[in-house]
Amino acid sequence: MTALAELDRMILLSRDHIAPTLSDEEICQQFQSFKVLCVSDLHSLSSHSGQTVLFTLVALLSRMGMQVGLNLPDTAVLLPQPPFLGSSLCEALLASSRTLVTEATVRSDSDLKADVIFVVGDFPGKPHDAPCWYLTGSDWLGSVAMRGIAKPEPWTARLPVGAMVSAALAAGEAFKFVMRSLPLRNPSDAVFFEPSFSSSWNFDRITVPLGERIHLGFVDFVSAGAISQAALFALSRFPGIEMSGRIFDDDITEASNLNRNMLTVASDLGEPKVQIASKHCSAGVHLEPVVGRCPGHTSDTRLAGRVAVGVDDIPSRWRVQEKAPNWIAVGGTSHYSVSSSVHTPGSPCSGCLHPVDDDGGGGRIPTVSFVSFWAGLAMTVRLLRDALGQPYPPERQHLWLTPLRMDLSHAGMWIPIAPRRDCPVHCLASVSMI
Ligand SMILES: [Zn+2]
Repeated sequence: MTALAELDRMILLSRDHIAPTLSDEEICQQFQSFKVLCVSDLHSLSSHSGQTVLFTLVALLSRMGMQVGLNLPDTAVLLPQPPFLGSSLCEALLASSRTLVTEATVRSDSDLKADVIFVVGDFPGKPHDAPCWYLTGSDWLGSVAMRGIAKPEPWTARLPVGAMVSAALAAGEAFKFVMRSLPLRNPSDAVFFEPSFSSSWNFDRITVPLGERIHLGFVDFVSAGAISQAALFALSRFPGIEMSGRIFDDDITEASNLNRNMLTVASDLGEPKVQIASKHCSAGVHLEPVVGRCPGHTSDTRLAGRVAVGVDDIPSRWRVQEKAPNWIAVGGTSHYSVSSSVHTPGSPCSGCLHPVDDDGGGGRIPTVSFVSFWAGLAMTVRLLRDALGQPYPPERQHLWLTPLRMDLSHAGMWIPIAPRRDCPVHCLASVSMI
């Protein structure tokens, strides 16, 4: 019963394609019986980026209910990896067993008969015969490649964004692996779940001052749900971040949030989401938790110069956009797709991008860990770039990403946003068209 409740939204998402003859319990069992072995080398794990790959990957796999085995040399944790706790890598990872999703275990087991092996960086020994992907990358670029496709290289990157990209790509491969073992409603849908022999994503390099604090200023987060928590999970891993601000949400953490809320652990159930997001951030991220509705609903809340919006409800995004004085980033997901955009005064607003309320009904929304994570990671990259004075150009105002098949061209599309005469926010860009 617990696993079904915790994985409910992922099972709902899988129902888009799985044959209706299968019960929820059978789908759940298939994910829970899936075993992943994570291996790595001491060189990779001696870098913050290598450690970040591993923690992010274990988090994303556990939140799909999978069983994780580790074959790793132990070493000290270099920088905080919330919500993981512990001073050594193995201690922190093993302590997370059954805490992210209560029946998802993490154990040290070099002989695990795994369905899939993920190699973080290089691996000095010979992995087992199971299908195996190597995770490699640099500061802003992450890759996965099957054995024999690319040369394994240890992680040495200073910055952790490529590391989190690589982990998200690998988690997608694990999800598809399970989906391939289940009967589909329509056999032609199998194309969505084909393995990637190799795939990568690049958020593109920017200049980051070496060894200096990076001041993001005062930032408001609207929603403390999956996308905001993924963004804060990513921000908390970026070295030298200094940020203060507020986080708004009136929701309480439920079991069904554990499949994607990256800063939440099972013992947090029943607590306000804002409290959890605030308390699990790293030391440089200071967020005042505000238990309440989206600030656009009240006239007296003055929003910060930077606002990160992770709320699903489209009219709520319009209200935030109306009140935001300067910069807002909006992240959202729909089934397997991710939308990430940024809006500044004079540019087409989030109302121009999302002009129609899709009326999701406020009910159960289908989600899976790695898709929500992509949305939060993209939001964090936009926030960093703006704070460092290197925003994406206007032709990259909107990113539409479908992470299931990142090996295909156009899986990620950068798109400019056109102003609309019928913009529900009546933004400056839309009014100037009339
Ligand atoms: Zn507009």
